[in-house]
Amino acid sequence: MGFLNFHGHNSVSFNGHDKPAIPVSLSQYIMHYLYGANEPLILKSTDKILDVGEFGEGEAQEKSLQKFKAMSANPALQFLPHGIVMSRNAAKNVLDFVYYVEGATNGARLAVGPCICQRALEKYPNGLTEPEIKDITLFYSADIYLDLGIGFKEITNDEAKDILDEMHNRGYLHNAMYMFQKTNALFVMCNCDANICAVQRGARLTDNTDAKGPEICVRDASKCKGVKECGKCIDRCFFGANKADGDEVIFDQNKCKGCELCVTTCTGKARELTIRDDYEYEDLMSKTLLLAGKYGYERMVPYER
Ligand code: SF4
Ligand code: SF4
Ligand code: SF4
Repeated sequence: MGFLNFHGHNSVSFNGHDKPAIPVSLSQYIMHYLYGANEPLILKSTDKILDVGEFGEGEAQEKSLQKFKAMSANPALQFLPHGIVMSRNAAKNVLDFVYYVEGATNGARLAVGPCICQRALEKYPNGLTEPEIKDITLFYSADIYLDLGIGFKEITNDEAKDILDEMHNRGYLHNAMYMFQKTNALFVMCNCDANICAVQRGARLTDNTDAKGPEICVRDASKCKGVKECGKCIDRCFFGANKADGDEVIFDQNKCKGCELCVTTCTGKARELTIRDDYEYEDLMSKTLLLAGKYGYERMVPYER
């Protein structure tokens, strides 16, 4: 296998929600292939920096943190993956879009394989001894990851949605990632764990790799059961939006990225998602696509060609 398996007109990329997918150029395919082939090395290097930055306070930690912040803000490295956090429903809409709206006639595919972070770092959660199967590659990147021969396989939309459900229940974050700061380089629906994933750990330190999604959590404090009886939202949130103050949960809505993880386990039914007014990524992934079927947005229908 190798990038010579490029599928020509059938290796398509995202082209915005209201336009059919377009064949990806061979040069973008090769660049992305090279990134994929070197991803374990990139993740290992990032992990080393993060390991120092995360442990306590001190000169070494501060240096490491500054180094990481400078690295992540460096324009020369903006080609690296950036993600938009989203609810399970929004993530399923992305899969529907790839599979039904584009896939039927345009060669778009979904493939799933072992979490690259866990595999590269050889760190696994909950006593597992191998990576979880949870990275869902989209469009031409499904072709690339199939070509790389690292355990990816093509899957149906329903199989991909089952994975999203399972990962949401495990407390993992849905994050649609794109490369090169380009709309047509949307490439993976990641299901990230909090403590191994290099992207999430980096995001906690710098707050500039994980963008706020199109929804935001609202809470009715009068329904909250309190920290002693519940407290689940504190553990579920990757971004520290929920903090204990005695038995009370202090909710900082400004930190919320709209992942839905606290909503589905809230024992008091005190939380729900609503539309975020200041969503900044309309040009990359529109609300019409992500919120289809909710808030009055119409369900997606396949394009007429
Ligand atoms: S970004 Fe998240 S899902 Fe993607 S490879 Fe890393 S841990 Fe796995
Ligand atoms: S999950 Fe809901 S009920 Fe539980 S502490 Fe948080 S807001 Fe309160
Ligand atoms: S507050 Fe809830 S919806 Fe918002 S980021 Fe945290 S877990 Fe996700």
